[in-house]
Amino acid sequence: MAGMIPRPFIDDLLVRVDIVDLIDSHLPLKKSGNSYTARCPFHTEKTPSFAVTRSKQLYHCFGCGAGGNAISFLMDFSHLSFVEAIEDLASFVGVEVPRESSTTPFKKKTASTSFKVLEQAASFYVEQLRNNSEAKIAVDYLKNRGLSGEIAQEFHIGFAPDSWDSLNKQFKTQELIDAGLAIAKDTGGAYDRFRGRVVFPIRDRRGRVVGFGGRVLDDSLPKYLNSPETDVFHKGKEVYGLYELLSRNAKPNRILVVEGYMDVIALAQFGLDYSVAALGTATSKEHLELLFRFSSEIVLCFDGDKAGQEASWRAVGAAFPCLRDGRQIKIMQLPLGIDPDNLIREKGLAYFEQQIDESQALSDYFFERLSQGLNLSDIEGRASLINKAKSYLEKLPNGIFQDLMQNKLKALTKVESLDIFKQQTNTKNTNKHTREQADSKLSPIRSTLSLLLQNPELIEILENKNINWALINLPGVDLLKEIVEIIISAPTIKLPCLLEHFRGTDKEKYIKIMMNHEFYISGSEIKEEFSGAIDRLISQGYEHRLDQLIAQERESGLDALQQKELLTMLADRK
Ligand SMILES: [Zn+2]
Repeated sequence: MAGMIPRPFIDDLLVRVDIVDLIDSHLPLKKSGNSYTARCPFHTEKTPSFAVTRSKQLYHCFGCGAGGNAISFLMDFSHLSFVEAIEDLASFVGVEVPRESSTTPFKKKTASTSFKVLEQAASFYVEQLRNNSEAKIAVDYLKNRGLSGEIAQEFHIGFAPDSWDSLNKQFKTQELIDAGLAIAKDTGGAYDRFRGRVVFPIRDRRGRVVGFGGRVLDDSLPKYLNSPETDVFHKGKEVYGLYELLSRNAKPNRILVVEGYMDVIALAQFGLDYSVAALGTATSKEHLELLFRFSSEIVLCFDGDKAGQEASWRAVGAAFPCLRDGRQIKIMQLPLGIDPDNLIREKGLAYFEQQIDESQALSDYFFERLSQGLNLSDIEGRASLINKAKSYLEKLPNGIFQDLMQNKLKALTKVESLDIFKQQTNTKNTNKHTREQADSKLSPIRSTLSLLLQNPELIEILENKNINWALINLPGVDLLKEIVEIIISAPTIKLPCLLEHFRGTDKEKYIKIMMNHEFYISGSEIKEEFSGAIDRLISQGYEHRLDQLIAQERESGLDALQQKELLTMLADRK
């Protein structure tokens, strides 16, 4: 995927963005000396060890080791793919992402064709609902559900005729299969996926049709059918109704998550126009992160049956890592046998919204559900509650909410000294300790690599040394050579761009450690340190080679060339 976006554009983007502004817009930073700090969003901690440095355009956590450039931050913090992070970064900077036309042309073509086919199919289905006499059963169904023509139009509700080839007659078979609209037959050819159903187009955030949901009009099964995963449709990332919601209100005060598309549409019909539905999958962390981009309050509203209860508990589990301060999740539990569609139809909007207002805070719901079947008046019950709660609370980002949840657990279990996050603090201290020890004996290769990564301009010193690389056969030297080549080919390169060259490779992690190493030196000291490190590296390489030759001479003897090499080396030693 990385190949789709031209490398110079990524480099340029990293030059334009200021990582301090970027991170500060997600996580308030405090100025502290030369850097900006915050409590780390990637691990639990009480005192800030997360630092962002403007001069380096990097962030680093001394507690958990997380670190990287602006792109890594968006990928980890907002759970984005590489391409999504580039897109977000581009919009943060205010530029458009160009695409290289030569790379992966086939896949791109499939995607753009699929969007076109899906849009045309949506229009076809809408037209069928209006004009096909067979659609009467669908129209009756929608009327029975109390839906008006306007709402059907707003959501582009359509009708798929009960035929095997109504789409096949007008589109290329392979295009239909790629778009998820037709199913290939073993014998060749394909047949329509949606037949004799009311269909609901599913749109992505940009309003493009990415798939359909279809509901039967008789007793056949499955009652609901969704498009399969395709190049353009990813169920785990899309929610039904979000585009329609945002086109009515770009900044909703809250978003209600319900189970099905008919719930979304019925609620909108009755004036509640801020609901969305997961698409036949469990509500995931990705879904919630997506919704939190648009509103700080999410209300989970699932049916009162066992399946609905389970779905809501799973959603709460997925929600924990997303619950930063300022975000809120509430749980609206419906009575058994009632769905949102029934409730708003029978009781009206005002009543429904009052129920939302009175819905349970996540903290109450969480502890209530977790304590079910436990006797909190005995020690075992309380210990069991602490154990069960621990794994969830650990996932909460640092903040007031995390503190409050811990306090609530203390109150429930009457354990005043409880500190769920103590263990992490200890681990952090241990890390710090080993880090300090490592500082004093950084190997020559590590010093050279770290200093060069952090100060690419040091390349000049390295070039002046006229190093015979063949003589330095040590672990890490290949990586050093690779970095040297990159810097020579792009002398003005900065660290964040250098890092991009290694994203996704097995060297990435090592590079990140090297680039975050603190030397606590500046100016000419850096040059001296670097020069010294290279000298030590060269001599280490030399000693290594010498040992090798001497060992080989003892074991199997040396050939003429090797003998000459050994003698020269020994002579050089003086
Ligand atoms: Zn951390």
